[in-house]
Amino acid sequence: MLMALVAAPLLSCVTRAPIAEIAIEGVTLVDAAGESRSDQRVVTLGDRIVWVGAMGAGGPPASRVIDGRGRFLIPGLWDAHVHFLYDPELTDAMASLFLAHGITSVRDTGGDLERLVELRSGWGREGVAAPRLFVSGPLLDGALVVYDGATDEQPELGTGVPDAPAAREKVRWLHDRGADFIKIYELVSPVVFGALVAEARALGMPIASHVPLSLTADVAGPETGSMEHLRNIELACASDWRSLLEARRVRLRSYDAGRGYELRRELHESQRLPAIAAYDADRCRVVLASLRQTMQVPTLRLNAFNRSRPDREPQWWSALEALPISVQDRWRRIARELDDGDARSDMTFADWSLFLVAEMKAQGVPIAAGTDTPIRLAIPGDSLHRELELLVRSGLSPREALFAATLAPARFFSLQDEMGQIAPGMRADLVLLAADPLLDIRNLRQIEGVMSQGRWLSKAAE
Ligand SMILES: [Zn+2]
Repeated sequence: MLMALVAAPLLSCVTRAPIAEIAIEGVTLVDAAGESRSDQRVVTLGDRIVWVGAMGAGGPPASRVIDGRGRFLIPGLWDAHVHFLYDPELTDAMASLFLAHGITSVRDTGGDLERLVELRSGWGREGVAAPRLFVSGPLLDGALVVYDGATDEQPELGTGVPDAPAAREKVRWLHDRGADFIKIYELVSPVVFGALVAEARALGMPIASHVPLSLTADVAGPETGSMEHLRNIELACASDWRSLLEARRVRLRSYDAGRGYELRRELHESQRLPAIAAYDADRCRVVLASLRQTMQVPTLRLNAFNRSRPDREPQWWSALEALPISVQDRWRRIARELDDGDARSDMTFADWSLFLVAEMKAQGVPIAAGTDTPIRLAIPGDSLHRELELLVRSGLSPREALFAATLAPARFFSLQDEMGQIAPGMRADLVLLAADPLLDIRNLRQIEGVMSQGRWLSKAAE
């Protein structure tokens, strides 16, 4: 019942907590890129870590001391794939849910830019504790748009980019209005994809992308900084990838009356399982080798949903109670309906996704933790822990999973010198744990306190 323990004091104290020197003393530091160190002292001032060293080795005094003895300190976590605007009934609840679960930074990978920027500046104006929010603005889609706002399940997260001039103009517009990166979606043409990439590079913006349906992962991936959901990699890894791609391109050209969402679904439904059945290990090694500089965000909790239903976990039900009542009611109803359709669930894509992450690890492909919350019953915060557990299940060590939720997303934004480790000069985002996450990744749920941008948000460990 993390929420009951952490969320209430967190919310009651956040606006009053002064930003001052804080020392966390006697704690074991857990480093995703190095060795753990016990009996340490960490001092923060405002939004910076100013000193780290062994207990007894000195360092500046602090006006407030947090007892870290017997506890473990990690850098604040990231959820690298989030949609704040997917469910309007949940938007306002998300920031505090993330913090309560130790997530101090999030990457919003698709939604209306002006609303997201307003959300972010509203937190700053009102002094509300919230994660650092990095936004892409809308999904940049093709002449047809998958998320066009036609139904509640397909809210208007996307925008159409019909040609190269429109692509360049759109990226400049996003840049000028505060987007931190761009997110390319599945229905862009190869020409539009190239123009989006070129313009974003010229402006110094990182690029996240689904593999467009008209391209393959080994062609599109190296042009981008991150790829989402392992989507369309199954096609690139199939022995008959050429004929599958050609069939795709013919269909994309001929489809002129209908919705983008339907077109994408038709292509996935007709090609995904045949492509997985035609998996070619040699071909896939070549594809994965091309992705060694491209962070992969597998969203296993989404891809492996049928294999690992969240509503089968007691943890999910207790975390659900922190959501707005209307969302709780709706999600309980959805969970019941899932049970009715359960016998027909196909596990192929779930198992293939878990398998592919292990292959990526073996090939040295960088992996980051993202959830797609709140899509498909993903509770903000809780779902990141679920994702990390699934990354470990697929073959990552707990330390590699921690890396995936700290340094990997920081690197996407070239922020590895500021975030993702506990060292002087780094930003003051920290999570204090009751147990060692390297022994069991589930120990990341045992949160005793969270520091977000220099603010200490829990009274539990004082
Ligand atoms: Zn998404």
